[in-house]
This record gives sequence, C-alpha cells and structure tokens, in this order.
Amino acid sequence: MEKKYQICNRCVMDITDPDIQFDDNGICNHCRQYDELVKRYVFDGEQGKEKLKHIIDKIKKTGTGKEYDCIIGVSGGVDSTYVAYKVKEFGLRPLAVHLDNGWNSELAVKNIELFLKKLDIDLYTYVIDWEEFKDLQLSFLYASTPDSEIPSDHAINAILYQIAEVNKIKYIVFGCNIRTESHLPKAWSQGHLDWKYIKNIQKQYGHIPLQTFPHISYFTYQKYLITCKTVNILNYLDYSKKDAITILENELGWKYYGGKHYESIYTRFYQGYILPKKFGYDKRRTHLSSLICSGEITRSEALEELNNEPYPLELQEQDKEYVIKKLGITKDEFERIMNLPKKTYYDYPHDWMLHPSIQRLIFSSYNVISGRRINI
Ligand SMILES: [Zn+2]
Repeated sequence: MEKKYQICNRCVMDITDPDIQFDDNGICNHCRQYDELVKRYVFDGEQGKEKLKHIIDKIKKTGTGKEYDCIIGVSGGVDSTYVAYKVKEFGLRPLAVHLDNGWNSELAVKNIELFLKKLDIDLYTYVIDWEEFKDLQLSFLYASTPDSEIPSDHAINAILYQIAEVNKIKYIVFGCNIRTESHLPKAWSQGHLDWKYIKNIQKQYGHIPLQTFPHISYFTYQKYLITCKTVNILNYLDYSKKDAITILENELGWKYYGGKHYESIYTRFYQGYILPKKFGYDKRRTHLSSLICSGEITRSEALEELNNEPYPLELQEQDKEYVIKKLGITKDEFERIMNLPKKTYYDYPHDWMLHPSIQRLIFSSYNVISGRRINI
C-alpha cells in the first residue's frame, strides 16, 4: 500500500525518508533530534567562546614544539573554508589536508589555492589513484544503492587520521556541525566508515583490486579515536552559513558554488541528478531543514526553493555528459544504471559493528546519526 504523503510541520523533511516518524503535532524525528543535539552539543555566545577557548588552549599546548598543532580537512566548501579561517584567527597552526579524487571543479581548485595562500596555511594533497577510484565509483553505481558518495568520505577520513598519526598531530578540527547538517536520513547515505561494505561492493562489481585506496577498518578507527581528538569547532561558534559566506567572500576572495557540496562536479551531479531521479532523495531537503531549525531561513523559503530544479537543467546536462565520459561508459549504459533495481546498504555484506543499535550502545546519538565520530 502506498504511504500517504506527509511532510513535517516544522521542516521540509517528508516521506521520501523511508524511516521518518512524525509525532502527534506532525513534527518529524529529525527535528526532535535536532533539538536534542543542539542542547547537548551546540554552545552559543559566551558559553561557546569559553568552551572553545579551553579547547584552543589545549590544542596549542599539545602542539608546542611541533610544526603543526592541528589538521583540517579542506574541500573548498563553505564549512571547511570557514574552519580554516577561524583556526588561523584563533592562532592555531594547522596543516590543511585535501583529497583530490579527480572531480574538483575549477572554482574549487581556485578557491582552495587562494584562501590557503591568504591564510598562509600549508597544504597536503592526496591524489587518489584515478583508475582504482573510477572503478570503485562505477562499482557503487552498479551496486545501485544511494551510497555512491561514501568512498570519498571514507578516503578523506582515512587520510586525515593517517596523517595525524604519521605527523604525531593530536587534533583534527572538523567543519561538521549540527546547525547546517543535522537532518540526514540514514537510508539516503550510509556506510561512510564501513570498509567491509566498500570492499565487498568492489569485490562484487569491480575490475581492479583496491590496492592504494585510503581506507580505515573499524578497529583501526577505534584506535585512532583514542590517539587522536576531533573537534567540531563550528558547534562552539554562533555559526551562520549566510554570514560565513559573506566573510569568506569579503576577506578571502572565496566564491560560492551555488549549492552544498557543489565544489565537486560528481557530488553536484550525484546529489542534483542521480539521487533525486533514481531514488527520489533530494538532499536539499536535509540542508534546508537544518537551516529552518537553526533559524537561517523560513519554511516557506525552503518550500519555494524545492520547487526549483536542484540545479540549472543546462548544467545538469553538461555534467551528465562530463560524468559519463570521465567514467568511460556509454549513454545507454548510464541509462541502464539509472534503471537498475534499487538496493540498500543492507543488501550487501557490511560491518555489524557499525549497525546503529550496536553503535548506540557504544557512542552518543550524534555519532550514530552522522555516521562519524565527531564530538570531542
Ligand atoms: Zn522536521
């Protein structure tokens, strides 16, 4: 039986999240969770400043005598660029780490170069083996789950921790934050930390063994959680995406891409074309819902935005052609992929240790939701 359409009365999450639950007031589980997480992990005003000062002092103290006192991941996007801007303002000495997975937009490359130079931050770029990565991306497309973006997330996490270990840097400062990234349905993307899942998808659909792909097993990850500390600095600031964009544009000459994570052509195409067209998942819903809850936009503004195409049709077509060519498949093959029966994470072998119920026993709710261990 078809589910009756329902959309949250507070945000714009709807039944396209198969696991969504509404309470008697028509408020969704994501909104309820948002309130809980904000209470626990977001610190505004003076309280935030005080807590952050304490953290910054600890990072500085631990990094004394070392070339760098912390690591930051940079994608060129708003959140990570703002983190770079803030850590410098706080007098930290970061090493920026970037994963070049072959899909950076020209603007992203320019943005990264520009702001790192302006902020005088050293950069380590890990260039992924393209043939291996291309094969893995295709494997995920053939696996037909909505998780095609997780290999990049997995690789960047692995690299950040590995570099932290090699350089004996204790702190990794992340741009993950609750105000702008809280409404993420599990069904829309999962397995970010699940090497077993990634490995098995490649075994089943790939043609090249993953020999150099940066990865992290569950137990290595647990080890890193002991040796390395992560800080989500934006949760301690009165963070507003709009204000951050203005500051970055004015002070660093950084330019906005027009959408969250659109610094990567593949991500733009995946989130703006494949996910909505094949799976019915429109990632804008999660981003806009977070912004509604944080008070940055109104619900009617978000609904209006959702009436538009995820991004300009002409650019979608341009990206489609580019992606098909770069992945080395034909248009027909791409259409076949789009029409393959939809699968989920649970249709493939995965690490049971990462199952939400097990994780909930071990970690706090926020870690379970985001699939990442992110709070200090
Ligand atoms: Zn909601």
